[in-house]
Amino acid sequence: MQAVIAGAAKPARKIIPIVPYAVKGKYRNLKTGILLLAYTVYFGLPWLTWHGAARSGQPLLFDLANSRFFLFDIVIFPQDLMVLMAIMVMAATMLFVSAALYGRVFCGFFCFQTLWTDAFRMIEGWVQGEAQARIRLMKQPWGLEKIAKLGLTHALWLVLALATAVTFTLYFADARQLISAIWEGRAPMAAYTAIATITATTYVAAGFARENICRVACPYGKFQSAMQDPLTKTVVYDAARGERTQGRQPPAKALKEPGSRQQQGVGDCIDCGYCVNVCPTGVDIRKGFQIDCIACGLCIDACNTIMKSIQLPTGLIDFRQAAAVEPAAKSATISFASRLKQYGYLGLMALAIVFFAYKIQHLEPFVANIQQDQPLVTRMSNGDLKSRYIVRLTNKEAQAQTYVLTLQGLPPDASPARHVMHVPSGKTYASTFSIVVSPQVAQTLQGFTAVITPMEAHERAEPEQAQEFSLAYSSGQAH
Ligand code: SF4
Ligand code: SF4
Repeated sequence: MQAVIAGAAKPARKIIPIVPYAVKGKYRNLKTGILLLAYTVYFGLPWLTWHGAARSGQPLLFDLANSRFFLFDIVIFPQDLMVLMAIMVMAATMLFVSAALYGRVFCGFFCFQTLWTDAFRMIEGWVQGEAQARIRLMKQPWGLEKIAKLGLTHALWLVLALATAVTFTLYFADARQLISAIWEGRAPMAAYTAIATITATTYVAAGFARENICRVACPYGKFQSAMQDPLTKTVVYDAARGERTQGRQPPAKALKEPGSRQQQGVGDCIDCGYCVNVCPTGVDIRKGFQIDCIACGLCIDACNTIMKSIQLPTGLIDFRQAAAVEPAAKSATISFASRLKQYGYLGLMALAIVFFAYKIQHLEPFVANIQQDQPLVTRMSNGDLKSRYIVRLTNKEAQAQTYVLTLQGLPPDASPARHVMHVPSGKTYASTFSIVVSPQVAQTLQGFTAVITPMEAHERAEPEQAQEFSLAYSSGQAH
């Protein structure tokens, strides 16, 4: 027996790299299809030109310098807090719904970490060959072949990581101008810093950390189980069929005929280990549900390949509710609460989508606030009282705008007929206007209304584009 010495340092745990085998099947095809689509969108979007009403030039643009975000013709500012919240709630509830219905499918098919790790593994496969060849190369002593193959793999990884990083920065400025600025060394330092940081993190995360991010670091993976219940369809091994009464056995001669395994009580699992060998996180799904399983479906493809080759029905591993095959899960009640949870997530997601659509349709073209300045009043030489008001107006449209401010509820000669403000796109400008009233009027005046209208709407007499502000008037102590 090994002695345990208190206070002695534990031996370091050896991390054995996972080298998944290749596999063909519908889930592999689906993953590849999603990867190609995601890469086409990610690398292609900054190069598309968009000449819609917003005139942003690109369909998706984070204009940090002017604190605005363009999504086609929609312009979102930090002031549109409710829209930003709706986007976050939509994203969160979509994750909850996918987890409640199909477990970690987001991790297995859509997560950036999975997509980039998959691409890095494809590069590895092209350069070094299939899993067995890669393991052989790993074990062989350093020589020309090993240096060339590993060198080329890492060089291609770095190229992909660099392309990922450069593309990321193109979402923050005009892509064509920024790419030439980067190339000619005259881009802002922030762009070079972002490129260096993202290249390094992509290279490390997809080339080395890989499944350890999904297993150890990802917070989403940690609270998955809280969202799953007996209704969740996830990757499940049919142990009753796979083991039967006599357990797993290789397909020996007496067990090769279709039906013979069943007759002899032998399970349909031939213990080939292919399902484990293809798993990117090293899970043996035959041991039951494990939180490290990212529901990528590759073990389903692997097992179906084996089942077809020995003429047994496919589906020994499949997406299904655990209650369909596991006696323990069968006895678990699919409670009203778990159904309510799924409907609750779905309802919340639908609400967030409707709210988002409503807010996008009703984005305010500008926001403003108006306050009476200090001192509240000053007495003029003729005895009239003058008050100054400060207007702060943020133009949330994609172009510069001119606004007209008019006042209602005041004597006709209390202020100029209108006050004009010109505000560039995305900027907040402060301006002032004054009102002058006699002491008699000041005694009874409690407030008045300011109306701000974009100039074009003002000229076209479109009052629905105007915003009204009820302002309090205080004469305080006249100076
Ligand atoms: S157990 Fe299967 S579904 Fe889960 S991560 Fe491994 S291969 Fe993917
Ligand atoms: S691939 Fe199928 S047959 Fe092979 S070990 Fe896995 S479950 Fe058993």
